[in-house]
Amino acid sequence: MTTAKCSFKECGCNIIAVDYSKLVYLPAAVLDDYQLMQSTKSTDVDVNTKGPNTPFTLVTDVWAFDNIGVSKDIPPSIAPETGSQYTFQYENDQWDLVKCVKYMICAECDRGPIGMVCQIMTPDKSEEQMVYMLSLQSVQV
Ligand SMILES: [Zn+2]
Repeated sequence: MTTAKCSFKECGCNIIAVDYSKLVYLPAAVLDDYQLMQSTKSTDVDVNTKGPNTPFTLVTDVWAFDNIGVSKDIPPSIAPETGSQYTFQYENDQWDLVKCVKYMICAECDRGPIGMVCQIMTPDKSEEQMVYMLSLQSVQV
């Protein structure tokens, strides 16, 4: 486990303990589509090993974070419903990213966004679930 921290040196707030065996990968275009902050700092851990995809740590419970800030609702113009544009593997199943409803920001310095709160569709397409997805390229790990 490594602790993801705010990428701003003067802040460095602890955000969450990252379990590298449970990362999910989305196409890197998601960083631009959702205008996530991209840290220019190189990381100690190689998190870029899945070609064109970018790693996220996904949790279902906001209390899994040490510190996190959540923004107001994202306007639909920025985060339209993506349908099944973004799919990803999680717990050996394929999930669809349906919609991102809020951004996550550093709880200490308010900088970000570093991730998003999303609705994802269960593999059997029966119901939606709310999850927290932190972009590891938007923080220091
Ligand atoms: Zn910060």
